[in-house]
Amino acid sequence: MNDDQLLRYSRHILLPEIGIRGQERLIRSHVLVVGAGGLGSPVAMYLAASGVGRLTICDNDTVDLTNLQRQIAHSTDRIGTRKTDSAKKTLTGINPEVKVIALSERMDESRLLQLAADTDAVVDASDNFPTRYAVNRVCTALRKPLISGAAVRFDGQIAVFDLRHAHSPCYHCLFPADGEDQDMRCAVMGVFAPLVGIIGCVQAVETLKILMNIGQTLNGRLLLLDGLAMEWRSIMLDKDSSCRVCGVMTEERAAE
Ligand SMILES: [Zn+2]
Repeated sequence: MNDDQLLRYSRHILLPEIGIRGQERLIRSHVLVVGAGGLGSPVAMYLAASGVGRLTICDNDTVDLTNLQRQIAHSTDRIGTRKTDSAKKTLTGINPEVKVIALSERMDESRLLQLAADTDAVVDASDNFPTRYAVNRVCTALRKPLISGAAVRFDGQIAVFDLRHAHSPCYHCLFPADGEDQDMRCAVMGVFAPLVGIIGCVQAVETLKILMNIGQTLNGRLLLLDGLAMEWRSIMLDKDSSCRVCGVMTEERAAE
């Protein structure tokens, strides 16, 4: 690290759990953030500020006036522009050291597979079930840690599926339905503005811990927030041995 980096990251380096070693790990890391909306904004902003070396952020939407109530990476003067371009401006403004790869495309599974291949962690900050299931299948196939978040109305949830470990549950173990009938896009639902900030920040915390290998992650737990009561609940998750996504993979791995 050069002198500027030592200063920029000094409050991290002062933490004995992080130090120069942890910070250098962040600088060498690459994270894929799927979605540049309400969750993707705080996740990507904190990962960039923290010094994660490379961020690939994908989203095929443009900035709309109705986004600005909660999607804090965007601003009024960027209405009508691509969310990924807007996010890149914000992120490099916070930290020009970070290489931001902004992809404004529709993400299908084969493209996600390509993008996630050389990352250290994948953050699901998407707003629809088909993408969530695709991201989960990709992370299971590539054995990447998946940091999943969702927020709607006053309720939020976060889970970590550390799919580097064969015994970890996956998103599909938790939500085995294909979700076609439960495709409640945040685009048409009410969302309390700071709720996405809370959930996105917890996703950023878990991602950074995974990258530096510190603390205990939420792996195997689902954390639920009731924002109106301001109550958190934590539920232990079990791997479903008959899971169509990770169960089959485990058998294949066992047969290898
Ligand atoms: Zn599973």
